[in-house]
Amino acid sequence: MTESVDCVVIGAGVVGLAVARALALGGREVLVLEACSAIGTQTSSRNSEVIHAGMYYPTGSLKAQLCVRGNALLYDYCAERSIGHQRCGKFIVATTPDQLAQLETIRARALANGVTDLVLLDRAQALAAEPALQCVGALHSPSTGIIDSHGLMLSLLADLEHAGGILALNSPLALAECAQDAIELVANDGTHLSAKTVINAAGLLAPALAARFTGLDLCHVPQAHFAKGNYFTLAGRSPFSHLIYPVPEAAGLGVHLTLDLGGQARFGPDVQWVDTPDDTQVEAARGDVFYAEVRKYWPDLPDGALQPAYAGIRPKISGPNEAARDFCIQGPKEHGVPGLVNLFGIESPGLTSCLAIAELVRVLLSNK
Ligand SMILES: Cc1cc2nc3c(=O)[nH]c(=O)nc-3n(C[C@H](O)[C@H](O)[C@H](O)COP(=O)(O)OP(=O)(O)OC[C@H]3O[C@@H](n4cnc5c(N)ncnc54)[C@H](O)[C@@H]3O)c2cc1C
Repeated sequence: MTESVDCVVIGAGVVGLAVARALALGGREVLVLEACSAIGTQTSSRNSEVIHAGMYYPTGSLKAQLCVRGNALLYDYCAERSIGHQRCGKFIVATTPDQLAQLETIRARALANGVTDLVLLDRAQALAAEPALQCVGALHSPSTGIIDSHGLMLSLLADLEHAGGILALNSPLALAECAQDAIELVANDGTHLSAKTVINAAGLLAPALAARFTGLDLCHVPQAHFAKGNYFTLAGRSPFSHLIYPVPEAAGLGVHLTLDLGGQARFGPDVQWVDTPDDTQVEAARGDVFYAEVRKYWPDLPDGALQPAYAGIRPKISGPNEAARDFCIQGPKEHGVPGLVNLFGIESPGLTSCLAIAELVRVLLSNK
């Protein structure tokens, strides 16, 4: 016999958990299917854990709107639930005079996105705050911070379960058949489930999974691309108390310095296009490029101070030579399948945006 469930969320990363929590708090019956044996073991535990402010993304894009909204929601939620976080602030640094114009451009875009707290610093002001820095000017973002992402996911899960939701681990979904009245789900072990609402929050595998949903036109499923980001940790104490970013690059934010809540500094992520979503080995040789990049803003980085750490894979839906794409969040209005929401390309700032994405999914499901 096929069991019936009101809502099924596929994937227990930070986004799937936030969406599941929001649906359960809204009174829906929610089951989360997670392929792995624990929550948040994929991209949600392989990132910089930065609460972004929302200054880089094109104005009006989902990334800009959901990041700005998500930033505010996340700080409130962290304070309410005592989730580890720190509003440490960030500097975007111009290391050559020609980059000063880019700081102005970022500040103008930030203002258009509703990020009103950026402050332009001249060299002396930047060095007064961060004496180890080499720069000709900087932008200070006071509302950028860092978060204990696992603490966040545990709290989202606790809220979900408190509201009656259920998490099923080791439960990979194989395929789905979409009809007008229900979506029939088939797990890898052959279990059948019928759901009114299905959220595909499978991260790197969301496009591949959606391609196995019969009744969903394949024209709505983007091509997946994978951009690995490698990190190297700094041996010894961090000379910086803010996060330090160079001006952004084409496919990422440049090799930046982030801090964890214990004060440990790490550099990365770089951008390495890979063929598979499970290629997470860090090649030590990539560190050579890091030294040159980091010394542009921290010339005193000692030889041998960088240790290979970990890597995460960006779930991209645009390839190496294509323009960066926005988050692709499709509800019934976009693809025509009642009750289905697909979340594609939820790369950075997906962690920051998770609570805002959850709000949006609820809206998409209510506008049938
Ligand atoms: C290098 C890097 C740095 C980043 N830095 C930041 C940052 O500083 N700040 C920020 O805001 N964002 C950052 N991000 C983005 C952020 O990490 C992601 O947007 C976020 O973690 C995505 O969460 P998710 O739940 O969509 O995906 P995931 O965490 O990947 O979760 C998807 C889940 O779905 C499961 N799954 C897959 N297929 C199936 C299936 N068939 N059945 C059941 N379950 C399935 C997987 O096992 C996984 O647990 C970064 C990303 C990367 C790669």
